[in-house]
Amino acid sequence: MYKRSIVLTVLLGLGILVSAQSMPAKPAPPQAGVNPVVEKYINDNEQKHVQELMDFVSIPCISSLPSHAADMTKAAQWLQTKLQSIGMDSVQVMQTDGNPVVFAQWNNAKGKPTVLLYGHYDVQPVQEALWTSAPFTPKLENGRIYGRGASDDKGSALTGIWAVEAMLKKIGKLPVNVKFLFEGEEETGSAHLGAFVAAHKDLLQADAAYSADAFQKSDTQGAMIMSVKGASTMEFSLKTANRDLHSGVFGGRLPNAAVAMANIVASLHTPDGKVAVPGFYDKVTPMTDEEKHMAATVAYDEQKELTAYGATAFTGEKGYTSQERAWYRPTLEICGMWSGYTADEGFLNIVPASAHCRIMCRLVTNQDPIEIMALIKKHINSQLPEGVSIAWKDIGGFGIAAAKAPGNTAAFKAAVAVLTQLYGTAPVLMGTGGSNAATSVLDKELGLPPYSFGFLQEDENFHSHNEFMRVSDLQKGQLAYCMLLNYIGNQKTK
Ligand SMILES: [Zn+2]
Repeated sequence: MYKRSIVLTVLLGLGILVSAQSMPAKPAPPQAGVNPVVEKYINDNEQKHVQELMDFVSIPCISSLPSHAADMTKAAQWLQTKLQSIGMDSVQVMQTDGNPVVFAQWNNAKGKPTVLLYGHYDVQPVQEALWTSAPFTPKLENGRIYGRGASDDKGSALTGIWAVEAMLKKIGKLPVNVKFLFEGEEETGSAHLGAFVAAHKDLLQADAAYSADAFQKSDTQGAMIMSVKGASTMEFSLKTANRDLHSGVFGGRLPNAAVAMANIVASLHTPDGKVAVPGFYDKVTPMTDEEKHMAATVAYDEQKELTAYGATAFTGEKGYTSQERAWYRPTLEICGMWSGYTADEGFLNIVPASAHCRIMCRLVTNQDPIEIMALIKKHINSQLPEGVSIAWKDIGGFGIAAAKAPGNTAAFKAAVAVLTQLYGTAPVLMGTGGSNAATSVLDKELGLPPYSFGFLQEDENFHSHNEFMRVSDLQKGQLAYCMLLNYIGNQKTK
C-alpha cells in the first residue's frame, strides 16, 4: 500500500521523463538535460575545479573555535570573490551576530522561477594526530581530495556555483533566477541564521530551495532526505562540598557527587529504553505510514553496521527498529560525564565533591528544543538528593528544531526527476538522525523547506579524520545542478 503511493509520487515527479523511458513510441522532449557545450566545459575544467576546491579547503575555517575567527572572514571573502568572478550580481558578505553570511543573486530570467541554493562554508575541528595528511593541506589521491571540509560542505557547495559558472560562461544566461546563501555557523548549530533570514525575507524570497549540505546514497543511486532531527544540548554540574574529601573521614556521611550524578543519569531513561523525563513525548508526532515504509525498505544491514563499529547489540526504545529510532524517534544521550579521580593510574581515595554531565537530545517534528531543555532541567532539579546543589551552564548553540520536507511539491518532484535521470534509478527517500538548522529556518521564515541536493557520500569521513570528496561527484554535482535549473526553468513560468 505504502509502496504504491511512493511509486506513484515518484512517477508523478518524473513526469515526461518517465513517460519517455517507458513509452518509447511517444518521445517527449527532455526536460532536465545539460547543454553539450556546458557539459564539455564542466569536463574540460575538472583539474581547475579540483585545484579550486583544494584552495578553498586550505582555509581552516573552524566555526566552533574562537581562534579561527579570522579564517571565517577569509573563507567568506573567498566565496565572495568566486561568486563575483562567475558573474553573479549583488554579491555580499553580510554580517550577523556570529559569522558572516555570503549572498549572491542572478535575477535576469524574467518571468522565470527563483531558486535559492543553500550551503555552508564552516568546518568541524580536526584531531590532527589522527589524520594521515595535514587536514588543511589538501591532497589529491586516487580520485579523492582529502582535507577538512572537502566533502562537508565546501565540495558540495562549490558544485552549484560551478554549474552556474558553466552556464553563464557558455550560454550567457541561466534558465531560472538563482540566489546563493552560504552560512558560516552550520557546524555550531546555526545560532544566528534564523535572525538573519527573518531580517532579510525579501532578499531571500524564492520559489524553491535546495541544500548542498546533503549526501547521495552511493555512486549509483541518489537519495532525498525527507526529514532532519532537531537538537538541544545542555550541561550541568553537581556540587556537594567545596573540595574533594578523605573517603575514610567523610565516606558514608557526606553526599558523594559521583553517586548523585549516577542516580540522576539513571533516572533519565526507563528500563524499556524510553526517555523518562515527564512531558518529553507529549508533542511527538507518530511516524506516518510513508515514514515506516522508508525505514523498512532502505537498504540496510544491521549486522554489518554492528561489526563495522565493534558493537554487539542495538538497544533503545522498545517497539521500534533501529532505523526508526535513528530517523523518527526522539532520543536523549549522555555525551560526557566526569567526576572524582579519573587519571589512568593510581588512586585518590576521596568522596568527590563535584560531578559534571553533558546531554544531547535529538528531537522530532513538533518538539520545541527550548521547551524540551526546560522539561529536562525540571526533571533533573526534582531528582536532586539532599545536600547536592546544581549549576546549569549555558553552552549556547544547538537549539535546533526538527523539520520535514514535503514529498508533494514541484521542487521535490524536480529533484527526484533529476536524480533519477542522473543515476538511472529513482533516489532512495530517507530520513536522517542528523540535524540541520537551515531546513527548519528556511521552512519557518520563508515557507521554503530546502530539499537535499548535495553530492557527499556517507563514507567520506565528514566530522572525522581523513575526510575526502570524490572528484567524480564534483562533476556529477555540477551536471545535477545544471539539470535541476533547466528542469525548473522548463517546468513553469511564474
Ligand atoms: Zn555540513
